Amino acid sequence: MASTPGFKRPRGTQDILPEEAERWRRLEALVHRHSAAFGYGEIRTPVFEESELFIRTAGASSDIVRKEMYTFRDHGGRLLTLRPEGTAGVGRAYLENGLASAPQPVKLWYLGPMFRYDRPQAGRYRQHTQYGIEIFGASSPLADVEVILVAHDLFERLGLTDVVVHLNDIGCPRCRPAYREALVGYLVSRVDRLCADCRERLARNPLRIFDCKDEDCRGLLEEAPLSVEYLCPECRAHHERVEEGLTALGIPFVEDPRLVRGLDYYTRTVFETVHQPRDTGTDAGRAERVLCGGGRYDGLIEELGGPPTPGVGFGMGLERLLATVAEQGLEPPQAVGENRALVFVVSLGTSLAAEGFRLARALRRAGFAAVNDLLERSLRAQLKAADRAGARWALIVGEEEAARGVVTVRDLRSGRQDEVPTGDVVEVLLREV
Ligand SMILES: [Zn+2]
Ligand SMILES: [Zn+2]
Repeated sequence: MASTPGFKRPRGTQDILPEEAERWRRLEALVHRHSAAFGYGEIRTPVFEESELFIRTAGASSDIVRKEMYTFRDHGGRLLTLRPEGTAGVGRAYLENGLASAPQPVKLWYLGPMFRYDRPQAGRYRQHTQYGIEIFGASSPLADVEVILVAHDLFERLGLTDVVVHLNDIGCPRCRPAYREALVGYLVSRVDRLCADCRERLARNPLRIFDCKDEDCRGLLEEAPLSVEYLCPECRAHHERVEEGLTALGIPFVEDPRLVRGLDYYTRTVFETVHQPRDTGTDAGRAERVLCGGGRYDGLIEELGGPPTPGVGFGMGLERLLATVAEQGLEPPQAVGENRALVFVVSLGTSLAAEGFRLARALRRAGFAAVNDLLERSLRAQLKAADRAGARWALIVGEEEAARGVVTVRDLRSGRQDEVPTGDVVEVLLREV
């Protein structure tokens, strides 16, 4: 008789048994509905891609490429890699499938396994599940605000209220060289206090030194020059409008001038949403966790050989999110249904963008799908977009209406138009569906 084989699952992976699988299914259903409620379409890309795609986007010097990728040759001799993150594959698919010539912005979400040869630790796996969204074709800061809002409101739906956005701006190709020079200048004279990894980073990508966990390196960075001090006027204005948008939506945020992202194609906005629970009595319930990280990557599509295309998005690890939900004594909501009809919120002028966000958010909370303009377009262009999106209604928020506290509700099937007090809109539409 053969002895028990004694096979074990590979290190850093997990088996999900039925009870836990039920929680996963609920969370995935919520993610699906939540993304659709903002007008995002699902994209599914292959689990493996040409290795070169990740080397190009993450940078040959990155930890991902140097230490963490699962790379193999197939029987045809092709060099392939199990995807370590989602954005590069989605960007590749955007180009390959001609989405660059579709009406912009293109808003996509994905959910699936990612693979990194990481040191396994609590809540960190070599195969982990990531949910992410990407907006291509919107350079306005309104798109950054929406991306942060999508994450924030997902946490709200799960009952996680103690979340804070950590926000920074790492500048653009115009202002970053001067910053990089200042940072390197500061560090070069103190190089003996850097760890071995950071000495290497100093030559290849000094911004990544901010990711170092070494005490001495962190101490040294306390006094280092910060990217926000070197922003060009355009980046500064962009950053301020992101902050204004978050303030208008009541999303708590703090400036975190040492927050960077470890990938080369990021520009301007970088953020992390952090769960900072108030004292709940247990140690596990008090742990602070980064639930989501993202930012703007205006350089990505060009890096992949496409036309200059702005992009912004986030990724979030769902193992960590589920663990946090459980620690707070919460459960993903059961059996969420489909969204109600799609409403397109037309807001006119920069000053009313926040009002557009607020209305769309109120509609989503009432179970509608709601899309608001992220390109600061004209009335005509927004109505055209509403038609194209197949919206059932357009809500028009103009300056004159806003002053009177009303919005115009246009039924896009009949063309009928009514003015409704802003506070009654959700109820009026609920009566119609
Ligand atoms: Zn700049
Ligand atoms: Zn270091």
